Amino acid sequence: MTFATLGLIEPLLRSLETLGYQTPTPVQAQAIPAVLAGRDLMAAAQTGTGKTAGFALPLLQLLAMEGPKVTANSVRALILVPTRELAEQVHEAVRQYAENLPLRTYAVYGGVSINPQMMKLRSGVDLLVATPGRLLDLFRQNALKFNQLQTLVLDEADRMLDLGFSEELANIYRALPKKRQTLLFSATFSDDIRLLAGQMLNDPLSIEVSPRNVAANTVKQWIVTVDKKRKPELFVHLMRKGKWKQVLVFAKTRNGVDALVEKLQGLGINADGIHGDKPQATRQRALDRFKASEVQILVATDVAARGLDIEDLPLVVNFDLPIVAEDYIHRIGRTGRAGSTGEAISLVCADEVNLLSAIEMLTRQTLKRQNEPDFEPEHRVPDTDASGQVIKKPKKPKKPKASGGGGGKRNLGKWVDSGEVAPAEPSIKPVRKVPVFNTGPRKRKP
Ligand code: AMP
Repeated sequence: MTFATLGLIEPLLRSLETLGYQTPTPVQAQAIPAVLAGRDLMAAAQTGTGKTAGFALPLLQLLAMEGPKVTANSVRALILVPTRELAEQVHEAVRQYAENLPLRTYAVYGGVSINPQMMKLRSGVDLLVATPGRLLDLFRQNALKFNQLQTLVLDEADRMLDLGFSEELANIYRALPKKRQTLLFSATFSDDIRLLAGQMLNDPLSIEVSPRNVAANTVKQWIVTVDKKRKPELFVHLMRKGKWKQVLVFAKTRNGVDALVEKLQGLGINADGIHGDKPQATRQRALDRFKASEVQILVATDVAARGLDIEDLPLVVNFDLPIVAEDYIHRIGRTGRAGSTGEAISLVCADEVNLLSAIEMLTRQTLKRQNEPDFEPEHRVPDTDASGQVIKKPKKPKKPKASGGGGGKRNLGKWVDSGEVAPAEPSIKPVRKVPVFNTGPRKRKP
């Protein structure tokens, strides 16, 4: 199968040739003809599957081939994304695909001045990438009209709900024309997402590509157990021992990111951090410098790094395990992309045994332990396996110190509900036509 057989027009094929895309990925093979045919889509696909081209290519083709010329302050296609970085990334991809088409594209997001965005929108744009909050601001200030809108894309819809954007989505939804094409992409399909889909989609085609736990197949994964307080020291030790060149490191909290960056910089290591508290310009600069290999270690929270496409990243380190097991798959998906091999190392302390167990259950594997001499933990991390069991070993009679790591006290599965430890193959259940958006307050900018 080629992009030409999927029905793409010549200007797009030329762009793809320039980019070196030869064969459509599975999500592209399914999405492109369906979007060209005008269908609504509900797609279970995460970053790394080629989903951006899956919706952007046919969208650009429809914009180029059909519909009226865009008028002042109007937008013909809207792509909603959860974060500013993702807005930049998706827009950059769109820009490359649209290189040979006479279309105007643009990205708007918060954290930067709104005035230049208002100016830019005056003459109208064919395709706008936006985060929900800034989009609404622009709409309320009459900088945007939706009367010409023909297609809406919700990208990373699950993350938009996680970030508390349900109210903004409801308000946007109310402002959009009822007759339009809607494409929804989500890595997971919780009840909230199905409700959202029920509200927004019309007879959608369901697409499901490579179950999310398969994404990790090209990534060599292992863990090192260590006491919590020795994690920074172990990280530096492993970095020097492995002569790591470029590493994306995930920490659980913003404070955790700052503390590790400070520690590394104090040792003269070229490190930077991104999290939701940092101004957008600082985040983007750190990311750009990391992509350009000017920064060796980038430490990030899950939200800041979600969906980012960084080419040829050989190594991801989980300084802390993620609270939600599925984030483990997103994190390690930053390496081993497009068939290349990558490595993902997790530093695991005894407190994190239940998180480890949930990850192993979700990915259906027992992560290999490779302990580091001199860093063996005083608080042992109980054994785990892919069945979701924390295996409690009988205490050795002669050991004077309590070395069970508190394993006997822990209660497996309490931290996450059964819906989050998702079945291995996410099934897209039929959508329900019921009102949505009252999914409750959620935290913004974790
Ligand atoms: P995405 O899942 O949309 O974030 O895309 C992941 C990466 O795959 C991006 O760097 C794309 O440029 C790249 N990509 C997408 N489709 C193809 C393709 N058909 N052939 C080669 N690379 C692709």
